[in-house]
Amino acid sequence: MLYSIRMMYLKRLQHVTFATIICNTRNLSSGIFPGVPIPQLKEPARRWQHSKLQRANFHTTQTLHLSAIGIMMACSTIQFGSVIGGIYGRRWWLSLTPEAQEEYRRWYQERRNIFYGSLGAFYLTLLTYYLTHLEKDPIEKRRRFIIFNKDEQAVLGHTIFTALLEKYKNDLIPASDPMYARLKRVINNIGRSNKKIFEHTEWTVNVVNVPLPNAMVFSGGNVFVFSGIFDVIQNDDQLTFILAHEMSHVLLLHMAELFSHKMLEEITYAVPLFLIWLIFSKWIALMLHLGSISLHNILVTYPYKRRLETEADKVGFQLSAKTCIDLREVLLFWELMDKYDELTKVKDYVIPALMTHPDHASRQRKLTRQLPEALKLRDQAECPDLPLTDPRKKLPHYLKDLEERYRRQQGISVYF
Ligand SMILES: [Zn+2]
Repeated sequence: MLYSIRMMYLKRLQHVTFATIICNTRNLSSGIFPGVPIPQLKEPARRWQHSKLQRANFHTTQTLHLSAIGIMMACSTIQFGSVIGGIYGRRWWLSLTPEAQEEYRRWYQERRNIFYGSLGAFYLTLLTYYLTHLEKDPIEKRRRFIIFNKDEQAVLGHTIFTALLEKYKNDLIPASDPMYARLKRVINNIGRSNKKIFEHTEWTVNVVNVPLPNAMVFSGGNVFVFSGIFDVIQNDDQLTFILAHEMSHVLLLHMAELFSHKMLEEITYAVPLFLIWLIFSKWIALMLHLGSISLHNILVTYPYKRRLETEADKVGFQLSAKTCIDLREVLLFWELMDKYDELTKVKDYVIPALMTHPDHASRQRKLTRQLPEALKLRDQAECPDLPLTDPRKKLPHYLKDLEERYRRQQGISVYF
């Protein structure tokens, strides 16, 4: 039990680490659907082997790099600055004599309209900035807030991809491993079947020897896969959907959207957090700080992230449909994931409101509802008929196989 709990939190930690990274990119070449521009970094020639951290091939200007990353770093310090400012402001206030405090109160009362007006102007500016940076996603027709331009989005994705490569550089699996050939086959199939979207994409594949079933796609067509994924998937149809889902995050600009929201939140919360630490003693301030952030996550951030996952599932399902895979394998895959969480006991500790991803069963249900539409896309792609035997009949066999794998790789959860 303790082992399971420990593993669960380890997994959650890994998940949290990658939740903001997974599926981030973009730049997978021109419009998924007509009129969808995609930021494109100039990438080197196609290469299927593990990357050598070829930063030299990354063509962008230093100015752009500083712009995107600089803004992010500045924003990430805002919350810290609010806390420090509040703590020192409170210390200063408490160090004053009662007479001096009274004098400052009078000073504030005389000017309070200026303070309120400034605060109102600040939030009005923020709201205007938000509204003027809303754009309509041409794929899902959803309004989204993105502050990064195309080059910055590409830089953002590439920066995270490079950091991941650096982190796992000692775990890179050689390009001669059969996993690369399998990934190449699947990715090429997705690319061929969605030619208008991916025709200019130069894929790079890196597989790291980490027993965590995970996959990511980054700017410029950089695919990053943990070897643990092959302990979970049952066939290439399922692998196709997973990679298509990751590519969809890229096409839908989810990473840029997530980071844009993060920055907006940091700025919005700056004043309230400063006031919390200014007004209340440290333990109460800490509770209020953590409580407000947790509440915000539960009410806003997590539902928003789950929505993005659902969106990527939908588009990924459509991309997969055009590859002529048996789409029922995708439904089976989520059913298996659900069972897998049962096996690993992770399911016992999952609190849906605290999850950044929808639960597997609900993802399966939603895709089941989308199956007829996806099958139409499959027909339009002139794919052969689905096999007469429904693969869902293979569930007992898959389950048995999973249990055997589980004994080898105990306690790993799966998030895509
Ligand atoms: Zn995802």
